[in-house]
Formats: sequence, C-alpha cells, structure tokens
Amino acid sequence: MNGMTGRCGVFGLAMMAAGLLVIGAQPGEPRKVDPGPIGGPPSDAIVLFDGKDASGWRRGDGSAIQWKVADGAMEVNGTGNIFTRQEFGDCQLHLEWAAPAEVKGSGQGRGNSGVYLQGRYEIQVLDSWENPTYFNGQAGAFYSKFAPLVNPCRKPGEWQVYDIIFHAPKPREDGTVEPGSFTVLFNGVLVQDDVPISGSTTAAAFSGAVPKGPLMLQDHGNPVRYRNIWIRPLN
Ligand code: MG
Repeated sequence: MNGMTGRCGVFGLAMMAAGLLVIGAQPGEPRKVDPGPIGGPPSDAIVLFDGKDASGWRRGDGSAIQWKVADGAMEVNGTGNIFTRQEFGDCQLHLEWAAPAEVKGSGQGRGNSGVYLQGRYEIQVLDSWENPTYFNGQAGAFYSKFAPLVNPCRKPGEWQVYDIIFHAPKPREDGTVEPGSFTVLFNGVLVQDDVPISGSTTAAAFSGAVPKGPLMLQDHGNPVRYRNIWIRPLN
C-alpha cells in the first residue's frame, strides 16, 4: 500500500512538472491587438502613409519628398527615391501599390518601382500583367535573387497588396553574417517562402549587415502609386 502511494506521489509530481513546463513555454498571455479593418492597420502598427500625410518620408538628402500626394495615394514622379525617417530591423510590412493604368514600355520599363527593406534589399514592384521579363526581376521577386513562386499580379491600374515579413541579416561575433529572410504575400498569395537574404544584396556595394535602416521606395521613372503603408517592428 505504501508502495502504491509512493508511485502515485511520483506520478503526481511528474504531472506537476509537466504542467510547469507547459506554463514555462507560455510566459504570458498574448497581448491583444485590434486588427482594424481588412488591410489594417492593426492597433500596434506604425502608419507610414495613411493616404494624406507623407511627413514620415524624406528624400536622400533629408528634405521633404516631392512625390505627388493626391486622391489617397502618393505617386512616383521622377523626383527620386524616398526613405522613411524612422529606421527598422525585423518587421512586418504592409503596403498597396498600383502600376499606371496607361501601359507604357515593356519589361523592366513598365510600372517599375521597388520596396527596399533597410534601403538595400528589394522586393520588386513591376507591372507583371502580361509583361515578360527575367523571372527574378518580376513583381514579387526578391530582386536578382529569387523569382516569385507564382504570378498573382492584377491588371495595370488596379491596386495590388504586399505583405512582407523581413528578418534582417545579423552580424555574428566571428565577423560573418547570419542570413536574414523574406516571406512575401502578393495579393494574399505566397510568392516568397522564407527565402534567405545572404550577405550580398541587390547592390554589390552593400554587404554585411546593419541593425536598422530606412524603408525605401524606388523612383524608377514610372508613375507607380502607393497607399496604406504600415509596419510592425518585430525586434
Ligand atoms: Mg525596381
């Protein structure tokens, strides 16, 4: 009888320990986030462009941007790339873009812009509706590295949605770089599935890693529009 009690006691202690392990894996209740309307922004996001206020953006020289802001969007107009004043590391980014409704040019010359995380890693923006180009240069590509898994591009002039999960490359103590990663949804469709961001990037001049950098939108000379841009820092 005593032996049985002993076994139950050990069993009970084991169950308690298991319970503590489960509790240990969940240090706290996930905090509540109001997701907002479809397309966000959620309550804990930093709104980078709400359709009107572009004051969170700068030109390369730090001055106010000159892109056209009208009708709830900002539009590339040949005045140069724009950068967020705030800098970011790992993040979740949402933005919406539209290539010009009036189709001009072909390949890389049609509706070209780009979303550059940390100002250096580009997810390509391009009118990829019936517009062949090299695969790792079409819309949704991690430019020059990874073609999108599929092409869910809508017609020119229609709004398109990018949701990007970015983990920045990080310096290791031995001087090497731990690759980062991109996961990208394009109009809700997975186009980049946790692809690595190695030390080399779209521009050969950039290598290594930086803890934070600005988000950059590219002026490639085509009047691409942007709206509803928000970001959630993940570190
Ligand atoms: Mg581009």
